[in-house]
This record gives sequence, C-alpha cells and structure tokens, in this order.
Amino acid sequence: MSELALLGGQRAVTRDPDDMFTWPIITREDEDAVMEVLRRRAMSDTDITAAFEKAFAAWMGQEYAVGCSSGTAALQAAMYAVGLRAGDELICPSMTYWASCLQAFSLRATVVFADVDPQTLCIDPNDIEHRIGPRTKAIMAVHYLSHPADMDPIMDIARRHGLMVIEDVSHAQGGLYKGRKLGTIGDVAAMSLMSGKSFATGEMGILTTNDRRIWEHALALGRYELFNANNVTESEDIIPGRGLPLGGYKYRPHQMSSALGLTQLKHYDERIAEIDRAMNYFLDGLEGLPGVRPLRPPKGEGSTMAGWYCAHAHYLPEELHGLSVTRFVEAVLAEGVQGGVFAGANRALHTHPLMNTMDVYGDGRPTRIAFAERDVRALDTGLEHSEAVGQRTFGLPWFKHFRPEIIDEYIAAFRKVIERHEELLPGDPGNPPNLGKWFAF
Ligand SMILES: *Cc1c(COP(=O)(O)O)cnc(C)c1O
Repeated sequence: MSELALLGGQRAVTRDPDDMFTWPIITREDEDAVMEVLRRRAMSDTDITAAFEKAFAAWMGQEYAVGCSSGTAALQAAMYAVGLRAGDELICPSMTYWASCLQAFSLRATVVFADVDPQTLCIDPNDIEHRIGPRTKAIMAVHYLSHPADMDPIMDIARRHGLMVIEDVSHAQGGLYKGRKLGTIGDVAAMSLMSGKSFATGEMGILTTNDRRIWEHALALGRYELFNANNVTESEDIIPGRGLPLGGYKYRPHQMSSALGLTQLKHYDERIAEIDRAMNYFLDGLEGLPGVRPLRPPKGEGSTMAGWYCAHAHYLPEELHGLSVTRFVEAVLAEGVQGGVFAGANRALHTHPLMNTMDVYGDGRPTRIAFAERDVRALDTGLEHSEAVGQRTFGLPWFKHFRPEIIDEYIAAFRKVIERHEELLPGDPGNPPNLGKWFAF
C-alpha cells in the first residue's frame, strides 16, 4: 500500500487548524462598532464613512478616498473618473476577475486584453504597447493574486502615450512595489473590501487618488450626497449636474461596513505582517522541490505580497512526469490540507462569450464592440500565458497565523506528495478542459 493518503496511507496533517484560516478576524471591538451604527439607526448616514475615508486615505498616503458600495462600483467610478467614455478602450490583463474591466461596457467603452507575464501572472508590460490604438484611454494594472504588477514600465508606457493608469488593488491592499504602496503609483486606485478579500469590511469598495478632478468625477457617478458645491469646483463638465447621481447609480457604502473598515484598519498592518511571515515560512519550506515554485516577488527589492489574498504557486508538470495539477491537488487535499487549495485560478476573460458574441444591452451588436471604432476582438491573440495559467497554478493554504507546528505539517504534506508523485501517475485523469473558475456565484 502507498503511504499517500489518497491511495490509502496515513494523512500527513493531523492537527486541528483551529482558527488558522478564519478571516477576517472579528473581535468585540468590531462588534461594538457595528452595533453602535445599528443602535443609532445610522446605517445610511455618512459620518462613519467620512471618518473611514479619511483614515484610509491617510493610510494610503493619498489626498482623497471615495467609499463605494462595492469594489465593482469603485472601479467603475475610477474608469469614469479617468475619462473612459463611449468608444474608448481600456487595456486590461485577461487573467483577472470580471470587475477589473467589465464595467467599461456600461460606460459604452470597451476592453482590449493584454497577456500576463508567466512569472508574476500580472499584466506583461511587454504586451501592452502594440495593443494601443487611437482610442486607448487607460491601462488597468491588477495586482493579481497579491503579486505586485510591474508598475515602472507600465507607467513609462502610459506617460509616453498619454494614457491614464488605474490600479486594481482588490487582491493586495497594503502591498508594496519597490517600497511604494500599491495603489499610489497610478493615477487612481480602486479596490474591493468585500469579506473574502484581505482587507475585509463586509461589502464595500474604495477609490483613492491624489488628483482632485478624478475625485470630483468619482463623486459624480454615484456619491451624489458629496457631489456638491463644497467638493466639486474644478470639473466644468459635471458642475451643472451637481446634486444628481450622474451615472444613475447610488454607490454610498453601508455604514456598518464603514465601521468595520475603521476597526479593521487599526489592526491591518500587524495582521498582514503575521500572514506574510507564515506564508513565507511555508513557501521557504517548499523551496527546492521539483514541480512547485512560489509565486512571490524576489526578496530584497522591497516588493511584498501584503495579506496574500488567494495566493498561488506555479505548478510545473514537466518536472513531475506530467502529473496533472488536478491529480496533484487531489492528493494534497487527501493529506488533510485545508485553507484554499484548488487547481487553477481565474479563467482567461477573453475566451468567454460575454467578450465575443453576447449583446447585453440590445445594441444589435456584440456589447464588446457596440461603440468601438475597431473590432477589438481581433486583438485577442498572443494571450497564451493567460490561457495556460489554469494548468500551471494552484491556490495555496492561506495561513492567517504564524504557527510553525501546523505549517510544518503542511510542508510535510506537500513534500510527501511531490516525493511520491510517480505513484499518482496511473490514476491521473488529466485536467478538465479550461481549468479555472469564472468566479461568479
Ligand atoms: C473582488 C474583485 C473585484 C470586485 O470587487 P467587489 O467588491 O466584489 O465588487 C474587482 N477586482 C478584482 C481583481 C477582484 O478580485
């Protein structure tokens, strides 16, 4: 009999994980802050939200912050605020979640996909320039799976071509790129703060910027209670609409989320430092094994993974006699490993009918090109790395605490599966086609 748990052996992981994977951490302080809003019936007021925006902007080192009801809303506000309008193009990596780009359609703009770099899984700066056209307006840099996007060349390209840069920080709040905080390098940042993310407030998003006009336009789309003569003074194009929800949206956040934002922010840096220590300890323990490489920035360049949201590792089947990542993950899970291990990542967005044939708004043409001046679908070539990510990555256990006695068992589980991988080859069903998730619930 094999020693692998999947084939009848003993599990490598025997300890109870306890609250190792519980997130966010909620204490009496959070409960009291939420109850204070509830008891005061202040759910739709804005005092707590204003306090959170101020504290968050200060933490980001940015002048302005706009809370929104979701990250999706905050990113749409960012797109509108940088001037994405009918017929304009947004360049976005194909490997990300929908809300990095899909809102462009609601602004009657469109999306041009760029490939990801196979090492960082973030937008490949070398795959951007040839996709720029006369209507390209902005680049969406996503710090995907907590890994910082390579911002220096992205900003260089943007400045040379007169493009705006939006950072989607939904996976990486608090992370650094060469010592600079993610979200402070582009023209504007927007991000999700929903419960599943590292910075978790329930259901909310936030936008930050140093640019007053961007802030004013972000307010105009859906924060109409702030879209007034005190705040909006420089943007002649929207001043006549002050007081109205110009986008037809209401994006004010719920104050129970803002209250959680304030209490979570107090402890966030300390908590993600512990996650960072735990995850690096775990990945150091896998160093040198065939088939698996950590997905993290090189040490010493001042780039970090912040809270390690949805952190992944690279999987190299060619070093394990072609063992599929599907079978590999099955064997790892059988060892008792918990905490978010799965094969693949997101699926490449350009491959979905929504990006090719669907007519969402009844324009009589596919939505993606309803207002476009060129058929941007024809540019969906050379996106091989985005298409291949599914078969070459898996999600890591997301440790929230530095507890070596538990992490050591996880390291042992992965080592065991890798060392005995040849025993798994006979029953390997291979990967399903299109491994990965669309991540719609
Ligand atoms: C979660 C997520 C969003 C959307 O945020 P919501 O708060 O769920 O609306 C946007 N971009 C990325 C990359 C995400 O993972």
